[in-house]
Amino acid sequence: MIINHQKCIACGNCVAVCPMNAIYVDTKINRANIDDDACVECGTCYRGMSTENLNPRFARTIRKIAKSLRFRMEPEPDVCPTSAIEMNELEMPRLVRQIFSDPVVEHTSTGIKGRGTEEVKTNDVRLRVDTGEVGYTIEFGRPGVGVRFSDIQKMTRTLANLGVTFEKNNPVNHLLTDVKKGDLRADILNEKILSAIVEIKTDINMVEKILLTVREVNRDIDTVTAVGISTRCGEDGEDNILGPLLEKLGYSNFRAKTNMGLGRITNKVSFTKTEGQIK
Ligand code: SF4
Ligand code: SF4
Repeated sequence: MIINHQKCIACGNCVAVCPMNAIYVDTKINRANIDDDACVECGTCYRGMSTENLNPRFARTIRKIAKSLRFRMEPEPDVCPTSAIEMNELEMPRLVRQIFSDPVVEHTSTGIKGRGTEEVKTNDVRLRVDTGEVGYTIEFGRPGVGVRFSDIQKMTRTLANLGVTFEKNNPVNHLLTDVKKGDLRADILNEKILSAIVEIKTDINMVEKILLTVREVNRDIDTVTAVGISTRCGEDGEDNILGPLLEKLGYSNFRAKTNMGLGRITNKVSFTKTEGQIK
């Protein structure tokens, strides 16, 4: 993202719009600027503000006259009055910021917008987590915090060492150069994004180890981490194994999302688990 200094009148309206606090008004040049390292290319400033096409020179002159007469000429707070915020074309590795942070950009690896994953929402029809297995979503970052891939790699490497299975249909997984070691592409490690989800699964007997490990690694990384955990309910619709286990480990257990099975598989024989598709 860039701010066109020919157009910007330094009204400061865009500063509060940025979820990463990447925009500031440089008082030396009297223009808004974007801190490229902090910007995750989420597009909020570009799309989230209304735009007007005031003539920048005219607007600056009026503002200057107003200031000298001790009153202000300010645009409405949600408007960039001169359409000065512009989206530039990005290339890898910077492009990865936009792919993981801009909710309207589709992940080409999965064909899904936003964070590019269906997580456990489609488990019922895709059998991502089978009986006796537990699925985990490990979510890194938040607006205002973000996460660098170097920190995500600390987690993927540690988890790979424990022998977990990474979900194939997940955008972070597509950036792994060595799934067994949990290595990510070297060129993206310093890139910062709004958030990402790593999805794994293990046998149910590894739940305690995984949760402890995530907690440990989290101490060593510069972001916030949230863990979701899922299992298949029994025939009676109840979770009689994972829930009690989590409570035993000291976690408050409650159902956050329940897949109602509205896309229930009716022809299991033709379901290919590896491709995750019904043929
Ligand atoms: S809203 Fe537009 S004109 Fe105002 S500071 Fe931001 S980029 Fe400049
Ligand atoms: S693209 Fe997003 S992170 Fe970058 S300056 Fe705009 S709002 Fe901030």
